[in-house]
Amino acid sequence: MEFAFSKEDQAFQQEVRDFIKKELPPTWTGTGLMQEAKDGEEWEFAHSMLRKVGEKNWHSLAWPKEHGGWDSVTKQFIFSHEMYFNELPGVDLQGALMCAPTVIQYGTDQQKKDHLPKIAKGQEVWCQAFSEPGAGSDLASLSTKAVDKGDHFVVDGQKVWSTGAHRAEWALTLVRSNPDVPKHKGITFLLVNLKTPGVTVRFLPNIVGTYCEIFFDSVVVPKENMVGKQNDGWRVTGATLGYERSGIHRIAAARRNIDRLLEFAKETKRNGVPLFKDPLVRNRITQLVIEGEIARLLAVRIVYLQSNGKPMDHEASMSRVFGAELQQRVAQAGMQITRGFGLVGEGSKWAPLAGFFQRQYLYAAAATVGAGTSEIQRNIIAQRGLGLPRI
Ligand SMILES: Cc1cc2nc3c(=O)[nH]c(=O)nc-3n(C[C@H](O)[C@H](O)[C@H](O)COP(=O)(O)OP(=O)(O)OC[C@H]3O[C@@H](n4cnc5c(N)ncnc54)[C@H](O)[C@@H]3O)c2cc1C
Repeated sequence: MEFAFSKEDQAFQQEVRDFIKKELPPTWTGTGLMQEAKDGEEWEFAHSMLRKVGEKNWHSLAWPKEHGGWDSVTKQFIFSHEMYFNELPGVDLQGALMCAPTVIQYGTDQQKKDHLPKIAKGQEVWCQAFSEPGAGSDLASLSTKAVDKGDHFVVDGQKVWSTGAHRAEWALTLVRSNPDVPKHKGITFLLVNLKTPGVTVRFLPNIVGTYCEIFFDSVVVPKENMVGKQNDGWRVTGATLGYERSGIHRIAAARRNIDRLLEFAKETKRNGVPLFKDPLVRNRITQLVIEGEIARLLAVRIVYLQSNGKPMDHEASMSRVFGAELQQRVAQAGMQITRGFGLVGEGSKWAPLAGFFQRQYLYAAAATVGAGTSEIQRNIIAQRGLGLPRI
């Protein structure tokens, strides 16, 4: 058993690190999550990085060679981890890591031809239009209606929580195409161009990110934009959500924040003694370091399964739950260790790390909802991951 990257992958890791060193502005305080970048300068920088990563041909690291990819889940892991750890935006979660593999698995040749080259170059921005006001965790109860008109659908309804939709050109969209069958069996998966007449995107400000609502008013979507078969969209959705769940951004961010907390505890003195000498603080941070390593190993396990063509299911859920909850534990430790100062307004000279852990606390709160909600992921683990033979 080998617990290290190959020489070639180590060289790639160095190349990514050199790229980050060159591109990361020393004053950058924005998020590494490209789709969550604030409008204005932050988004403009994130968008420029999307293209720069495209010039390196790094959006397609995990795609099969026949689709212009590198066929290397390991390189994708290395790239994503380095980028998120260093908080340089440019990983295209919704386009390269969710849309592209879905289209590769279920899309038509024309869809592959139309979208993969653009996504690979960072020239097409995607968003996900799954959730609705009445359909979140129970996504299959969605009600955005698509009426079959022969060669096209007419779509009416509303989506919500679509991250970054106001800047996206395309949306992965779920619609109810047959209301007369059990709910999972009447869903179709569409690629919808958000510039189509009848589509309205409305920005919905929130504490951390870039939520939007999307309204569909008699929107004509050609059948060529259907991914998979009509009324069989639930199968395609499962694949897309699997790609989303296996993402590494929470784990990389949590590990980076543990390092930050450690640095803070070593540099900050209380009663003349560095905080890190306090056994309670030291144990708390040490525990987080252990958990950061567990999170990394859970993520590596998914890389192993994917690179060996094995299915990943409850393993991705375990990684998702552990990563999201670790992010919360790190944020909570950060707030407690920085004490009352942690609550001082962001930017104040009295706010430790300029209010950094406050922001992390908000991000962590956001991680408690979302497609990876712990209860739902635990249900998946309980249904499919318990009592299985252990390796
Ligand atoms: C930061 C962020 C970004 C997002 N981006 C997108 C996006 O780009 N596109 C998109 O389509 N959606 C997006 N979402 C929406 C997300 O997918 C939904 O929030 C999620 O599916 C939960 O749905 P809900 O908010 O309606 O909560 P609900 O489904 O109402 O759940 C509320 C609570 O009840 C619990 N619960 C629900 N059902 C069960 C059950 N059966 N058993 C046990 N507990 C249960 C949940 O775990 C949760 O704690 C985003 C959400 C967040 C937080």
